Amino acid sequence: MANRRTFLKTSLAALPLLAAQNTEAAERVVRYKKPVVVSTWDSGIRANEAAWKVLKAGGAAIDSVEQASRSAEAEASCCVGLDAFPDRDGFVTLDASIMDHRSNCGSVVFLQNIKHPISVARKLMESTKHVVLAGDGALQFAIENGFERMPSKLSADAEKEWKEWLKKSEYKPMMNIENRKPVSQNSLSAPNTFDDGSVNHDTMGTIALDADGNLSGACTTSGMAFKMHGRVGDSPIVGAGLFVDNKVGAATSSGVGEEVIRICGTHTIIELMRFGYSPKKACSEAVKRIVERDPKAAKDFQVGFIAISKLGDVGAYSIQPGFSYSVTNSATNATLKA
Ligand code: ASP
Repeated sequence: MANRRTFLKTSLAALPLLAAQNTEAAERVVRYKKPVVVSTWDSGIRANEAAWKVLKAGGAAIDSVEQASRSAEAEASCCVGLDAFPDRDGFVTLDASIMDHRSNCGSVVFLQNIKHPISVARKLMESTKHVVLAGDGALQFAIENGFERMPSKLSADAEKEWKEWLKKSEYKPMMNIENRKPVSQNSLSAPNTFDDGSVNHDTMGTIALDADGNLSGACTTSGMAFKMHGRVGDSPIVGAGLFVDNKVGAATSSGVGEEVIRICGTHTIIELMRFGYSPKKACSEAVKRIVERDPKAAKDFQVGFIAISKLGDVGAYSIQPGFSYSVTNSATNATLKA
C-alpha cells in the first residue's frame, strides 16, 4: 500500500514536469481564435467553407463537422462518397464516423448506395443506443430513416481506374495523392491519378471548436482504393481515425488506416495532449510510434494526423512530407503543410 502511494505521489508529481518538457519543445504553438475548423488536405478548404457557414453564425461544432463531411461526400472525387474508387471487386463501400463534445459517437462501416454516410452515422448516434452499424444493417437503418438508396453505378472515372487497376491487380498504397502530378487535367480523377498510373486515397477528416468552446469531429471516406471487399479502415473506428474529448481536444487522421488502427492513433494523440503535449507534438509522437514498429515499411506509406486543443491550438504531423491541412476561422482560411 505504502509503495503504491509512493508510486502515485511520484508519478503525479512528475506530470507537470512532463507537460512542461513537451510544451517546451522547439515548436511555436499556433493558437487560433474560436470558432475554428480544421480539415485534412488541401481539399479540406472546401469542407471548411461548409463548416464555417455554421460556425460563423454561432452554430455548434457538431453541425459544422457534419456539413464539412457532407460537402466532401457531394464532390466527385476518388476518395470520398459514391463517385469514389471502388474496392477490388468493383463496389464502392463507405466508412464514416462522427463524435460530439459529450463523447457521443456514431459510425457506419462498409455502407453502400448512400450518398451521405456521415449523416447516417449522426442519426445512429442521436437516435439509437448503438455506436457502429455495418453493411446491410447500416443500409437498412439508413433507408428506414429516409436516406435515399442510390443506384450501384461506378462513376465513369472510377470505372476507368478500376479496369486499369484490374490489369495488374496489385495493391500498393501510394502517398499524398493531392500533391502528385495528374495524368490528365480533363478527368474528374485527375488530381488522384498519376503519371506512374498509381492511385490512392485521401480521407476527409474535420475537427472544430465552436464559439461556445465545444469540440466535435467527423471523418468520411471510401477507404483505400481497390481494397479487399469488406475491408474497413481507421476512419470509422473511434479512437483510431477520429477522437474527441471536450476537456482536451480533437484529432483525426488520413493515410493507411491499418497503421493508424494499430496504435489507436487519435486516442493516443488526445491522451498525450491531456498530459501536456501540444497538438503538433502529440501528432508527431503518434507518427513516431507507427514508424518505430516497422521503419522500413514506413518509408513507403503515408499517415497524417491533425489535432486541435480546447484552447484552439492546432497542429499536424505526417510520416512523409506532402501532407497538408486546412484551417479556417475569422482571421484565416488557409492550407498549410504539416
Ligand atoms: N484512412 C483511410 C483508410 O484507411 C484512407 C485514407 O485516408 O487515405 O481507409
